[in-house]
Amino acid sequence: MKIIMLGAPGAGKGTQAKQIAEKYHIPHISTGDIFRANIKNGTQLGKEAKKYMDQGMLVPDELTTNLLVDRIKNADCENGYVLDGFPRTIPQAECLDQALAKMDDAVDYAINVDVPDENIIRRMSGRRACLSCGATYHIQYHPPKADNTCDVCGSQLVLRDDDKPETVKKRLEVYHGQTQPLMDYYAAKNILIQVDGTQDIEKVFADIVQVLGE
Ligand code: AMP
Repeated sequence: MKIIMLGAPGAGKGTQAKQIAEKYHIPHISTGDIFRANIKNGTQLGKEAKKYMDQGMLVPDELTTNLLVDRIKNADCENGYVLDGFPRTIPQAECLDQALAKMDDAVDYAINVDVPDENIIRRMSGRRACLSCGATYHIQYHPPKADNTCDVCGSQLVLRDDDKPETVKKRLEVYHGQTQPLMDYYAAKNILIQVDGTQDIEKVFADIVQVLGE
């Protein structure tokens, strides 16, 4: 099963992607996580990506697409995957389709987690991330057990630079301009699924499972 998660930054697509990956035993591939791991490890790719990420802008298509296409060729992707944060532009979607077509394959579902902008801004200011292991929390909706401390690895949690209010506004602008057109792209292929992302995390997931099957 090859699944793409769509939705504005902060819509909760990462949370849903992780649950999908667990239930259907497929890898969760987040381009944002891959970039952040590279930033943490001080790689050339990380240095290049950080310039864009810190400003709420997209990393250039070529860089992102090459990285993703390489990743889905790994053996763990044989039975599918859930992509979180890719594609984010029409050229990225076209490159993915072309790469899959070469393997006689195609995306099965594009799931849009729909949340209005007002909710997004409110949600993102409460997000906290662990830069050591990648776990994410929310001070209101999904708090860590101990204040500001990662449940998984015990590191200190931070508000990511790209979750700061001024960056969030920029990211929403970029989302509406460059990523939202993907909805029409996948609707035209008859694989777009809409879910109401303003519901509880469990209810959003139940709606997704209803479409993907038990
Ligand atoms: P995310 O964790 O998915 O919200 O991504 C964080 C940031 O990483 C984005 O704001 C972009 O700067 C960059 N990024 C992640 N995925 C992509 C992508 N598919 N194309 C371009 N930039 C991306």
